Amino acid sequence: MKPPKFDYHAPASVDEALALLARYGGDAKLLAGGQSLMPLLNFRLSRPAALVDLNRIASLAGIREENGRIRLGAMTRQRAIEFSPVVARRLPLLTEATRWVGHLPIRSRGTIGGSIAHADPSAEYPTVLTALRGEVVARGPKGERVVSAPDLFETYLTTTLAADEILVEVRLPALDAKAGWAFEEFARRHGDFAIVGIAAMVATQGERCTAARLAAGGVGPIPVRLADAEAILERDGLGDAAIEAAARRAAELVAPDSDIHGSADYRRNLTRVLTGRALKRARDRANATTRT
Ligand SMILES: Cc1cc2nc3c(=O)[nH]c(=O)nc-3n(C[C@H](O)[C@H](O)[C@H](O)COP(=O)(O)OP(=O)(O)OC[C@H]3O[C@@H](n4cnc5c(N)ncnc54)[C@H](O)[C@@H]3O)c2cc1C
Repeated sequence: MKPPKFDYHAPASVDEALALLARYGGDAKLLAGGQSLMPLLNFRLSRPAALVDLNRIASLAGIREENGRIRLGAMTRQRAIEFSPVVARRLPLLTEATRWVGHLPIRSRGTIGGSIAHADPSAEYPTVLTALRGEVVARGPKGERVVSAPDLFETYLTTTLAADEILVEVRLPALDAKAGWAFEEFARRHGDFAIVGIAAMVATQGERCTAARLAAGGVGPIPVRLADAEAILERDGLGDAAIEAAARRAAELVAPDSDIHGSADYRRNLTRVLTGRALKRARDRANATTRT
């Protein structure tokens, strides 16, 4: 299938892109890596009057660490994240999650901003953003605003970003040097969207778990932060029994839908199994880091 007819613009700055969005009054779509948008156009599920291509705005791509946070420009390619030494050292959970995103050609074009703005509930980046209490920066006609993950994801493929706003940056806290992390996922074939994906991070001090971060994707319209399961670990530590209790609680916290990929019960069970696996790997990594 071919896409319907549209005007095409390739602005050189964010201000120019914002002016174009305003000109089309909500009937233009931003083009990032095109890995989700182009199929939607080709199937004619989306028929915008214009595409505003962000690919020539150099200032929108890049990764830097600042005050304990990793700041990723919206147009940073998934492949650049996968191979970034800064991300590998300071935010290895994101490196591991990125390896689950599609296939190499998709990651070479796909961007972190596009993935988060697209808001597929099975996608890895929205799950990591939710687990780590990350935030995004949106720029619109009235200036910039910072939006936290719970205020961003509304429902399937829908965020609270307005049609005249551009997601310009993603901000995630760098991991503590003594933290452990893991991204666990089950998909039928490698490169498919997750049936369920779990992002986990634990920080330890001796036997104690000083902070736990857990979120699940693929279990409903938006990624779910597993706050009660985190609380179990922060109270009871990271022994096998506490991890199993947290995993059981995680399964109770999600309300997945059934679809052709799996029933709600199957996804709930996967949530329990993958949460347990992710936490054990994260704990073992934290222990290994603490020892060295
Ligand atoms: C075969 C296949 C397998 C895939 N598997 C996975 C997978 O396993 N996991 C996964 O997470 N993804 C997967 N993807 C999707 C891929 O990660 C996409 O790259 C991603 O979802 C969208 O990023 P993009 O940069 O390509 O955005 P685009 O496709 O260009 O845009 C997506 C949407 O976001 C909007 N948008 C883009 N950038 C911005 C911005 N800066 N501000 C506001 N709105 C914006 C667009 O207008 C559009 O509505 C897969 C894709 C394919 C084709």
